[in-house]
Formats: sequence, structure tokens, C-alpha cells
Amino acid sequence: MSVFSNSSLFPPPIPAKIQTCKTIKDLQQLHAQKIKTGRIRDPFAAAQILQFYALSDHPNLQSAHLVFTHMEEPNCYSYNTIIRAFSDSNQPLEAIIIYHQMLHDRFVKPNQYTFPSVLKACSREIRIEEGKQIHCQIIKHGLNLDDFVLSNLIRMYVICGVMDDAQRLFKGSVQSKNIFGGIDKSGEGIIVIWNVMIDGYIRIGEFESARKLFDEMPQRSVVSWNGMIAAYAQNGLFKEALEVFCEMQTSDLHPNYVTLVSVLPAISRLGALDLGEWVHKYVEKNMIKVDEVLGSALIDMYSKCGSIDKALQVFDCLPHRNVVTWNAIIGGLAMHGRADDALDHFFRMEQAGVAPSDVTFISVLSVCSHAGLVDEGRSHFKNMVRVNGLRPRVEHYGCMVDLFGRAGLLKEAEELVLNTPMKPDDVIWKALLSACRLHGDTEMGERVARRLMDLAPHDSGSYVLLSNLYASLGNWEDVAKVRLMMKEMDIRKDPGCSLIAIDGMIHEFLVQDESHPRAKEIHSMLEEMAVRLRSTGYMPDTTQVLLNIDEEEKESALYYHSEKIAIAFGLISTNPSATLQVVKNLRVCADCHSSIKLISKIYDRRIILRDRNRFHHFEKGSCSCMDYW
Ligand code: ZN
Ligand code: ZN
Repeated sequence: MSVFSNSSLFPPPIPAKIQTCKTIKDLQQLHAQKIKTGRIRDPFAAAQILQFYALSDHPNLQSAHLVFTHMEEPNCYSYNTIIRAFSDSNQPLEAIIIYHQMLHDRFVKPNQYTFPSVLKACSREIRIEEGKQIHCQIIKHGLNLDDFVLSNLIRMYVICGVMDDAQRLFKGSVQSKNIFGGIDKSGEGIIVIWNVMIDGYIRIGEFESARKLFDEMPQRSVVSWNGMIAAYAQNGLFKEALEVFCEMQTSDLHPNYVTLVSVLPAISRLGALDLGEWVHKYVEKNMIKVDEVLGSALIDMYSKCGSIDKALQVFDCLPHRNVVTWNAIIGGLAMHGRADDALDHFFRMEQAGVAPSDVTFISVLSVCSHAGLVDEGRSHFKNMVRVNGLRPRVEHYGCMVDLFGRAGLLKEAEELVLNTPMKPDDVIWKALLSACRLHGDTEMGERVARRLMDLAPHDSGSYVLLSNLYASLGNWEDVAKVRLMMKEMDIRKDPGCSLIAIDGMIHEFLVQDESHPRAKEIHSMLEEMAVRLRSTGYMPDTTQVLLNIDEEEKESALYYHSEKIAIAFGLISTNPSATLQVVKNLRVCADCHSSIKLISKIYDRRIILRDRNRFHHFEKGSCSCMDYW
């Protein structure tokens, strides 16, 4: 921001010479000259020099402070300048100190521009006692009804965590506005006060109170909408974020850059491709600048919503790419199992002189693991340390264990786990246990499972993996033992949950879900699917069920896995050529995987399923993961 752009500070007229200063260096020369000629005593010149030092893009607060202390009679404007500069700096306490000097200066008194800065300094230092004193002085100066001062006062209480006082002030202001002259329709200030209060509730995690206030707002600004959307999106309330975003379309305000950057991660998480495409078109139509941040968010959205080719298009069109952008595309390609493309982009990233981060290496190593590139993975892991000087985190060791484990190098995998410099976490042990299941090694599997159960005794994941290991070998007796253990310790499986977006609406299904309004139709579709599957000679793979019950019951439990329900619903609610996009919270089970392959052939549909780890593109009876996931 330019020094002279803030008209609310009413700067004095600018002497011609200072106007020609473009840098601090120019100013220092002029400053030296003024000292020599004695013109520094000129209060106008001094105020201007102070302002330049204090509020330029690269402020020099030491010099500003020096000029200020040498002023004979600093006026209110100069006090405000220096207080404001310090409140924005890394020495906010200095702003409070100068404010106290100001109180003792009998020639000046603080005004509506002084208080917001000094309150900001109190918030940044969490100085609630000083803040309360300033509150009293605001009342003394009759500024407690000024919207600008009031919003900063409420913000100070909010940031210092004194929500009761913030609430009292807020309620008082709302009442006084209603009594005296009603709500000023053009009043930006009143909107800011509401925004600050809503932000306060969000900070302490009271989303319902925040939403209630948001819904009651007499008038909203783009900032109000953005705040609510970002709060939901950043706290895992993705559906709510999208609802508010869609509601915003019906208001007379338009989404801006911040809105889009806030909503895109929620769209990605829910796999709501239609909405994501709408956002992209909106960006193009309104010529919103696609920088690295927005570009990366768009790439991430397209790849998480299943359109990796669109993600590549966005990536190729970006004028500038930073490490986040490269990570977004490499991560996307990795999730889609496009190993060659991912490694090719990793190579291009290094060519472009962008240093890979530890996030990059997680994608690169997981690509090698999924593609069975053992030697390549090994060498990337070495380079990460030797060439890039990065310290591998537990996630990287997890990828390496996965790499060795999938390739059947179980001994090497176990050795790596036992020799990791940090304490191996449950993810690493689970990777090893999965490998034991994949290669049918019960002996190591039991050993690993015991470690896992010590580490996280209440995590259902390890019990399920061990039980599946026994089940895949037909050892129902031990399956039953694991089940009993889970029951005794009151451990339940995470409920499976799948989402499907139809016409911009997100539909959510749980295992054996019958709560949907079209549950009856979905149910008959599921039955039809079962019949048609069986007519192709398909036999359900019941080894994945955690129950040793009779075969028929097991089979029906499989038919009701949430991804199948979502697909059944997708088949009856879209036109025959539409691609179905399903997002599942857990890893897809082997039975669902093989039946969805067949469903894609029987119904001639493309089905894209994102499970916890990766994407599966089902088409004409086969899957992009080549059955290796
Ligand atoms: Zn399943
Ligand atoms: Zn697959």
C-alpha cells in the first residue's frame, strides 16, 4: 500500500521534494539535507519524513522513531502515524508505550484513528488489561459508538479470548443501532462489527453460533461470505462450505479470489466436479488472475474430482509455478496411478530449478511403490537426503515400507521398520501388515499385528487387517478370535461412507443405508445389479468380510457397502452416458472392486471411485489401477 493512499489519515500537504522520493534511500539523502539546513524543525517536513519511514512498503521504524522523538511538538497525526506503524510491526508493545506518552501530552488527545491501532497492538500482544483501560478511555472520549473504533474494540476482546465482553459490546451496539436511527444501509462499519463477532465464534470453534449470527446479519459483505465459507472448509465441514457458497450465488454479491481459494478445497474433498468446473469457468469469465495459489487449488480440485487431464491443462497454462503447484500436479498424477507422468513431472520440476519439498517426495515414493519400481524408489529416497538435504519423516519411511512390502521384500521391509530413526507409527506397521496379507505371511503378520495393537489398542484398522489376513487363508477360527477381542475391547470398524454428486447436490450413503428418500428405488436397483452380476458368472469374494457367518448373509452384507449404494443411486439418477463420480472414506474392498469392474461393463458406464488412497477409473470391465492398490 502506498503511504499516501489512506485518505482517512488526512495527511498534511506534501512538500514537493518528498513527493519525488521513491525509495528509503532517496529519503535518507533528503533527510540528511534537511538536518544540515535546519529545515528538520519544520513540522510539516518532519511529519512527512516520519510518514515515509513509518508507512512505506518497507518501513524503517528505527529512523521513524528517531524522527518522532526529535519532533518538538508532534501533532495527533504524527502520533497516529508512529502508533500505527508499530502496531503493524514485530514490536507492537512500542505502540502501546507511545500511546501512553500521547495520553500525557497536553497538546494532543487521541482520536478515532488512534484507538484502532493501539487496540490492534493489544490484541497482538494479548494485553487484555491495557485493552480494558483503553476501552475506558474510548468511552471517556465519546468514541464508543464509532463503528470503526467499536469493531476494533470487539476484535481486541475476541482475539484476547474474552468472548463475554465481546458479546456484551456487540449486543449493545446492535440495540443502539436499532433504537437510534435503525440500521444504516450504507454502513460498512456495522457489517464489520458483525464480521468480527462471527470470526470470534469461529475462533473458539462455535460454528453454530457463528452461523446463527451470519444468518441474522441485516446485510452482508463479500468478507462475511468468505469468512463463513473458509471457516467451514478449514474445519472439515465441507458440505456446509458448499451450501454457503451456493447460497452466495443467490445473493447480489459476487465471489472474489478469496472466495474461490477458500471453497476449492471443500469442492475437492467432496469430489463435486460440476461445481469445480463452474468455479473454473467463473475465473475465466471474470478474468480473475490465476496465480500460484489459485492455480494449485484448481489443479488439486480437478485431480481430486477425477479429471486429471483437466488438471494437466490448467498446469500447462500457468505462467508461474511454485513448489505447491508442482506438488499438486505430481500428487494428482500419483493418486491416479499415472506413474510415468508423475515421475516425468518430477524430472521437469528439477529441470525448472524448483527444489522439491518433503511433500514432493511422498508422492514420488508412493508412485514408485504403486508401480513396483523398487530400485527407482530406493534411489529417490537416497537423493532426498543426500542431494536435497531433506530429513525423511515417518511418512517417507511408510512409503518405503510399502514399496518393499508390495514387491514382496517383506524381510527388507521389516528391517527398515525396526531401524527407522524415529518411533515407527501405526501407519508404517499397517503398511507392513497389509504387505503380509498380500503375500500371505501369517507369521510376520501376527508379529506385526501384536506391535500394532500395543501401539494403538483402540484402532479398528489393525484388527480388521489381521482378521482379513486370517480370512484370506480361510482361517475362520482366528477370525472369530479377533472379532471377540474387538467386541471385548468395544472396538468398532470405522463406518464406510460414500458420496456422489448429482446435479450439484451431494448425496451421502453409509453401509446398509436406507435413509435416502429414494431408498426403495435404490434397493431394487441393488437387487437388479446383483442378479445381473451373478448372470455373468461373478462370485462374491467373501474373504473380505469380517464375519464368519453363512455365505448368503455375507454376500448381502457386501451388496450394501456404501460405494455400491452410491453407484446404484447414480445409475438410476443420471442419463446413460454420464460418468459416475464416487468418493469413499475408506479403502475399497476387493469384492466391491471386482464387482464395480463388471458393473462398468454391464451398464456401459465410466465409474470413477476415489477411495482413501487413490483413484480407480473403471471402464469396460477393467480398472486403471490394474488391480494393484
Ligand atoms: Zn466393499
Ligand atoms: Zn482399481
